[in-house]
Amino acid sequence: MSRPAAEDGSAAPRAFPAPPAERLPVDVFDSHCHLDLVELPVAEQLAAARSVGVARIVTIGVDLPSSRLCAETAAEHDDVYAGVAIHPNDTTGVTDAVLAEIEALAAQPKVRAVGETGLDYYRDWAPKDDQHRSFRAHIDIAKRTGTALVIHDRDAHDDVLRVLAEEGAPERTVFHCFSGDAAMARVCADNGYFMSFAGNVTFKNAEPVREALRVAPADLLLVETDAPFLTPIPHRGKPNASYLIPHTVRFMADVKGLDVAALCAAIAANGERAFGTW
Ligand SMILES: [Zn+2]
Ligand SMILES: [Zn+2]
Repeated sequence: MSRPAAEDGSAAPRAFPAPPAERLPVDVFDSHCHLDLVELPVAEQLAAARSVGVARIVTIGVDLPSSRLCAETAAEHDDVYAGVAIHPNDTTGVTDAVLAEIEALAAQPKVRAVGETGLDYYRDWAPKDDQHRSFRAHIDIAKRTGTALVIHDRDAHDDVLRVLAEEGAPERTVFHCFSGDAAMARVCADNGYFMSFAGNVTFKNAEPVREALRVAPADLLLVETDAPFLTPIPHRGKPNASYLIPHTVRFMADVKGLDVAALCAAIAANGERAFGTW
């Protein structure tokens, strides 16, 4: 793979919308990114991320074409793992044949997650019955393939937790873009669910999410961009990419009163537990 200019951290490629963040003291990884939706070549995204201490990225599918693409990208790049799934917003009439292909993709060696799946009651784009059927099927696929389950939960905390309890959660379950409060963080901690925080934790109105972060145990913490979405302050409003994760990590360390290097080390170790060793 070619290594463009940003490798030494001196300058991000010109097309990047924000200057590179200060390098993290210990390499972390981005647990949830949509590399295919960021309007920059993947190799440049990876190089820019690496130059600020984001050594690895999990790229996440939301439908069949993007899941295939994520699996291919992971197969091509050492530093990338893939998640494959049908996003809850896209589950209207989802067929067994589609789910069978998700399962076949999930069996590939660099595909380490089934996600993003879950429930989205904020954007009511798919009927709840279809969302639930698909979520339960994805939980089964994660268990059968031994992959982590990556959950999208938007305004659906109670039902997501209930379905997980009813089905039996996979050994490794990740709440992506954690949006619950402190009470929910305690439930997740009791169940050993990973909590992945995104750039929205830096937003002014996100005090409940910060309360959740304060009570979440360090050994269940992950960080993500959900790029190109949810760009952290101070670059909110610009497109997001993995090289901006240091802003979120430093903010999280501050909220938790943790040393940045200690938080980075915890995130890196948790990532290997969730998605396997690189
Ligand atoms: Zn999501
Ligand atoms: Zn996402």
